[in-house]
Amino acid sequence: MSGFLSRRHSRLSPYVPGEQPRGGDFIKLNTNEAPYPPAPAVLSALTSGAASRLNLYPDPSGTALRSKLAEYHGAGVQNIALGNGSDETLAFIFLAFFDGERGVMFPDVTYGLYRVLAALYNIPYSEIPVGESLAVRPEDYVGVRKNIVLANPNAPTGIALSMDDIERIADSNPEYIVVIDEAYADFARRSAVPLTRKHDNLLVVRTYSKSRFLAGARLGYAVGHEALIGDIETIRCSYNPYNVNSATLEAGAAALESGEYYGERWERIISVRDASARALRGLGFELTDSEANFLFARHPEVPGKALFDGLREAGILVRRFDSPERIAGWLRITVGTDAQMDALVRALAAIIDTEVKNAKK
Ligand SMILES: *Cc1c(COP(=O)(O)O)cnc(C)c1O
Repeated sequence: MSGFLSRRHSRLSPYVPGEQPRGGDFIKLNTNEAPYPPAPAVLSALTSGAASRLNLYPDPSGTALRSKLAEYHGAGVQNIALGNGSDETLAFIFLAFFDGERGVMFPDVTYGLYRVLAALYNIPYSEIPVGESLAVRPEDYVGVRKNIVLANPNAPTGIALSMDDIERIADSNPEYIVVIDEAYADFARRSAVPLTRKHDNLLVVRTYSKSRFLAGARLGYAVGHEALIGDIETIRCSYNPYNVNSATLEAGAAALESGEYYGERWERIISVRDASARALRGLGFELTDSEANFLFARHPEVPGKALFDGLREAGILVRRFDSPERIAGWLRITVGTDAQMDALVRALAAIIDTEVKNAKK
């Protein structure tokens, strides 16, 4: 049975997530998850009570976790709105603030969900080409009088804007919303959250999926001026007032209290990232200057598709994108453990060797 999808959705092309293989023993470097489990305190929060309270609804305002996040960021509870993953927070923001009159702009090379959300809600959008180096050009967003969404560091390049650039963009579009998606900010060791105190139009979106090792728990949030957060809350409570489940609320609080556990592992991920980048350069790869928990790389002689397929055959999953055309040759590689990255580098060396020899035949 088909053909019942309402006409306004007939041309939607939904977001396609990276593969989550069922069977098989893959080294999984394709969806920017952490190679480490959540902190021990998270696991004990989940087993010592959260599960036995699943007969009750969660606190619909999530106040306990929001207070902890507020304290962590030096903000107030009224400055934080929780989401079932930051994808949901982004969906609430698009629905709350962007419409046919005002539209939204974002880079052409960025997180694919922005385009999908704009299409879902019928929001006109413009995709601004990134520069030659694949970096976002901040000048393109200064004084444009448009709503703006920027991932910082950007995905899938990992390249980050400076806080000065973000401030300039927010300052020069005072009547419009500027959203900074900080999914990877902990790996870049800086955040635009403090700027939300000075700039009423700035919203920062964060997630527990990447740097808190809780992708499966689904937790994200927005930080910003209380008027904007109030508007997001209006949308959230009109859509799903119990959007964050009680186990996740408790897991989130425990993760936030395990700063040392995460801090140590962020340092490890950053140092493995930088060592892996050097190893790939040694194999002839060109890389962006990624400040995230992934690398973005292409080889001058071997097409991205051949590298991707070769790695998959070797049991290693990475990600590549067909569009825009400019990045079709590139691979996005999540930073795993030392051992996983060694296996990746060895597999790539073998693939390149074979491909280059074949090309010369
Ligand atoms: C992973 C990612 C998200 C989504 O995170 P969830 O909290 O898991 O929904 C949002 N934005 C960017 C840029 C991401 O890479």
